[in-house]
Amino acid sequence: MRHVAIIGSGPAGYYSAEALAKQLGEDVRIDMIDRMPVPYGLIRFGVAPDHQSIKAVYKRYEKVALADNVRFVGNVCVGQDVSIDELKTLYDAVILATGAPDDRPLGIPGDDLPGVIGSAAFVGWYNGHPEFADLAPPLDAAAAAVVGNGNVALDVARILAKTPAEFAGSDIVAHAFGALGASSIREIHVLGRRGPHQIAMTPKELGELGHLAAAAPRIEPEDFPPEMDDALLEPGLRKSVTHLRDFAGLDAGGKPKTILFDFFAKPLRIEGDGKVERIIVEKTRLDERQAAVGTGETYAIECGMVVSCIGYKTPPIEGVPYEADRGRFANSEGVIGDGLYCVGWARRGPTGTIGTNRPDGYEVAEKIAADIGVGGRKAGGDGLDRLLEERGTDVVTFHDWQRIEAAEAARAREGSPREKFVAIAEMLGARGR
Ligand code: NAP
Repeated sequence: MRHVAIIGSGPAGYYSAEALAKQLGEDVRIDMIDRMPVPYGLIRFGVAPDHQSIKAVYKRYEKVALADNVRFVGNVCVGQDVSIDELKTLYDAVILATGAPDDRPLGIPGDDLPGVIGSAAFVGWYNGHPEFADLAPPLDAAAAAVVGNGNVALDVARILAKTPAEFAGSDIVAHAFGALGASSIREIHVLGRRGPHQIAMTPKELGELGHLAAAAPRIEPEDFPPEMDDALLEPGLRKSVTHLRDFAGLDAGGKPKTILFDFFAKPLRIEGDGKVERIIVEKTRLDERQAAVGTGETYAIECGMVVSCIGYKTPPIEGVPYEADRGRFANSEGVIGDGLYCVGWARRGPTGTIGTNRPDGYEVAEKIAADIGVGGRKAGGDGLDRLLEERGTDVVTFHDWQRIEAAEAARAREGSPREKFVAIAEMLGARGR
């Protein structure tokens, strides 16, 4: 029998479990270990609550989780409850599918002022991540700045712009729903250090900004390169740029909120007396490599909050080789070495959509099948259970999770699929045992 431990139960973890189960059939036992008492990682805590069609992919993961040879071992923190070395002793292979939950810092003066928030924290707050429940973002100013031109920046801008009615059918948590409903923010500046042709926003997500009930996007027409240059872009980006051009010609129609695209705007510093009051940006131009170069011209955006959406990093784990500049584990095509593998953002860095993780899972399953053969004489899950019992760890199983999930569904607001528990104690309490 082969025993495989997967650390992290987000998309990369589940695609790996699915691939291993297909590749090795009945001859593998898979434990998915997660520090949270609830599964699905990024699907629960990262994907925007108003994107339920994307979140629905959890149904595919649920099928994997319910197989006889796959277990969810929740509420277990690798590094605290059990070490990587212990897992390597217990399992034939250990896969790190830990994602990239930490924010890359802005690294400019004033980025430590209250009111400067990383996207992991802000997204975690509105998605009910226990670590960010008490974030209390300052929503009482008239304007906010969102730094970055990727899909996370779009998510944050859209969530700040939506009316309470537009959250119907979402699973936004109560604390965020209430706070956003009472928000004073009317201007949302989305800052890109480069131009419309360099955005990392995908067309479907960008198009949504054109259909908001109370907010209209605004773009200065002079920020665009000549329209004929759009033909040189790859089709997805060309579509996104077409949305931007449509926005530039849009009549705001009296909508009270505005999403302003500040292109060629590089954050220089954040100022304020004990809290964010403004962000100073420098106008840029593109050099021949399409990198942003400062022009020396600066301007201030008065705002009470700055959300930086400039990418993520994987937290290092003691003893595992790490590439700090790329924010991921050092690996060669998913192989770290010595029975250790990595997939998803922990392998590639924080780029790509949920489906991008699927090939990673299948590739690593093939490598593991070749590397471990028929398996060693490892203790696998029985050994882990003994260790965790000795240490008094309160393990959450998939059946426990199903009870937590049912309890969340039972207390949902009308029209919402669930009302998530936010505190870990509440999640554990909802197991009913
Ligand atoms: P991203 O797509 O890599 O975008 C990061 C943005 O931050 C870029 O515009 C980048 O600009 C900018 N940036 C980086 N460092 C900066 C700095 N120091 N100052 C100013 N701007 C800076 O990352 P993301 O938005 O975090 O998304 C991560 C991944 O998740 C992406 O693959 C994304 O598509 C995916 N995602 C998908 C969805 C969806 O499908 N609905 C939703 C959310 C996220 P430069 O280009 O100039 O470096």
